[in-house]
Amino acid sequence: MKIACIDLEGVLIPELWPHIAQETGIASLSLTTREFPNYPELMRTRIETLRRNSLTLATLQSITANITPFPDAQEFLHRLQKEYDVSIISDCFHELIGPILNTLGSPKIKCHRFNIDPAGYVDHCVYFNRQGKETHVAQALTEGAKVLAVGDAYNDLNMLRLAHHGFLIRPSNSTRAAAPELPVVNSLSEVFERVAFE
Ligand SMILES: [Mg+2]
Repeated sequence: MKIACIDLEGVLIPELWPHIAQETGIASLSLTTREFPNYPELMRTRIETLRRNSLTLATLQSITANITPFPDAQEFLHRLQKEYDVSIISDCFHELIGPILNTLGSPKIKCHRFNIDPAGYVDHCVYFNRQGKETHVAQALTEGAKVLAVGDAYNDLNMLRLAHHGFLIRPSNSTRAAAPELPVVNSLSEVFERVAFE
């Protein structure tokens, strides 16, 4: 059994929140876990900002619907699915990525959800029940699977470390510095080349 755990934003599609910040003109929406290391706190701040600026879920969805996957993402998933049971493991929210997932061929995904209030605003987050992304890899390992993982950021590092093949793709300098032991690739196709040789 071969299982692949693939991060979404920064790996298969661009980051959503910088795009939302750009489209709405609200710079603070592009703040990330670099500025707010605590993810639930970051999301609470984002949700407050959305409400203060009268941005409903429907508005957010109309913005994120315009995001397209990276050019090599569809081919990568298609090729990967021939050999692996593929799951997207993401810290994004289901309600924001429906159209993008369709474009990617509706892969299996494990991510969080929003709770929406009657007026259509995001009210709070409903987090996927896990400690971190590495929970999925740990589960696969207990089932005796061979695990491949690809991610780009700090929240992927433990998942990548635990996998048999864990690759950082185009990491920032600070992410790279936090995990000098992990192999780095610059493109998705390079993942296949590296797995073939390891
Ligand atoms: Mg990412």
